[in-house]
Amino acid sequence: MDFKQIVSHCKEYGFIFQSSEIYDGLAAVYDYGPYGIELKNNIKTYWWKAMTQLNDNIVGIDSAIFMHPKTWKASGHVDAFNDPMIDNKDSNKRYRADVLVEDYMDKLDGKVDKEIKKAAKRFGESFDAEMYKETNPRVKGYLDKKASAGQRLAQAMTDGDMTALKGLIEELEIVCPVSGSRNWTEVRQFNLMFSTQLGNIAGEEGKLYLRPETAQGIFVNFLNVQKSTRQKVPFGIAQIGKAFRNEIVARQFIFRMREFEQMEMQFFVAPGTEMEWYNKWKENRIKWHKAVGTSDEKLRFHDHENLAHYANAAVDIQFEFPFGFKELEGIHSRTDFDLTQHQELSGKKLQYFDPERNENYVPYVVETSIGCDRMFLAMMSTYLMNETVPDAEGKDSTRMVFKIHPALAPVKVAVLPLLKNKEELTSKAAEVYKKLNLHFQTQYDEKDAIGRRYRRQDAIGTPFCVTIDFDTLEDGTVTLRDRDTLQQERISIDELVAKISPRVSMAGLLAKLED
Ligand code: ATP
Repeated sequence: MDFKQIVSHCKEYGFIFQSSEIYDGLAAVYDYGPYGIELKNNIKTYWWKAMTQLNDNIVGIDSAIFMHPKTWKASGHVDAFNDPMIDNKDSNKRYRADVLVEDYMDKLDGKVDKEIKKAAKRFGESFDAEMYKETNPRVKGYLDKKASAGQRLAQAMTDGDMTALKGLIEELEIVCPVSGSRNWTEVRQFNLMFSTQLGNIAGEEGKLYLRPETAQGIFVNFLNVQKSTRQKVPFGIAQIGKAFRNEIVARQFIFRMREFEQMEMQFFVAPGTEMEWYNKWKENRIKWHKAVGTSDEKLRFHDHENLAHYANAAVDIQFEFPFGFKELEGIHSRTDFDLTQHQELSGKKLQYFDPERNENYVPYVVETSIGCDRMFLAMMSTYLMNETVPDAEGKDSTRMVFKIHPALAPVKVAVLPLLKNKEELTSKAAEVYKKLNLHFQTQYDEKDAIGRRYRRQDAIGTPFCVTIDFDTLEDGTVTLRDRDTLQQERISIDELVAKISPRVSMAGLLAKLED
């Protein structure tokens, strides 16, 4: 589905609104509406339970957004949490310099794809795309150009060499997408942390940051958690919470926000075992994504070319968003960097005594970090679809349906009296609603024709609709309509809970992770 359609659907159906919209909005800040918050909460519950409930050795915390300013010195964020920015002097538009080069590389990929499609048509069944990439001079030229640009970008980013980055943009003759000119400023580093002031303390001393990641709240609590819960390494700490980044360019709706939510888990392991755990967590996390129905083709691993200062291995789980494959989650082997740094700056030991090894050490850390909002967008862009309805005519022949996994759906069941102005139907429906609402997020709707009400429920992803009609009054049965198959079955009111429960339960979804 077209990206614009997804954005307008989110607004029209109460999933997501622009923040402070009546004041023309605040760039890259969004509010979740009534259905949005339900879906988001379900995503969080799915993640939280998969971490803390299914793993005896993972516990949760909820640390404060504000932290001692030394935290960010220790973590490297004060000195190194920068993105390179560049302005075009003609359009006055600001860009991330690294993203300009990445976009250039994506364009080359697009050209390669085009050539390959053309050749596949020409050569027919015997066509071997891999061989073609290696032998066709034009395609090989594009790929070499891309590889060389990628290498030089990675080098410049690792070295923090902004002059080299500017040189690369000039050499590749990258133009501003708005003005079309190559009239660029120098590339400058821009720190992404928001700052504020603590109480009445003026100046640098009272300077606080809004956390740019939740991870540091976990690191500084490492010993508190380990001691109070008597965990043994390996064990993990999970947290869901807001993070803030003053992103240079905020595009693509909730993909890149200035205030967003992260779901992070830091797993503390014995030194030397980190690669084994890194690989385990890669597998584990992909399984979590696939359990909601996401296909292999939509997900891929992407190894980092330039490792962050704290990592010895890092991979992104990329997801195919409507604007291409982009990072949805990061899995990083962070070594003992963070704990060692906090140990140094705080002067407090952050070590663990390993009874098996009979030694003290600073544990190594493997982390998984996923943006809740990006997961939300992944679900919206995959499962919201325009579908042809079999055996229907006119405007009923298509429907907009959000085929989200039922355990994540904002509303699980809708109760609909066939007619609004028949008191015996509406009062029976109210009775059924009351009963179901104890078990599931349930909605009662009596407005408009039944077909329109079904469509409204399809659009917000409600897996089941229960219709109360005149037969209900006679024999206590209702029709249960399935969102995906459109099948309707007649069942007794007493059977509804037992029928719906296993289909929408979080337990059912979690069980897939245990297979
Ligand atoms: P990107 O390269 O896209 O800026 P990142 O590598 O800086 O992301 P991490 O620091 O690894 O991201 O953060 C972990 C996760 O947090 C990301 O995988 C992403 O899902 C989410 N995230 C990061 N920045 C944002 C943002 N500005 N808006 C929404 N989600 C974000």
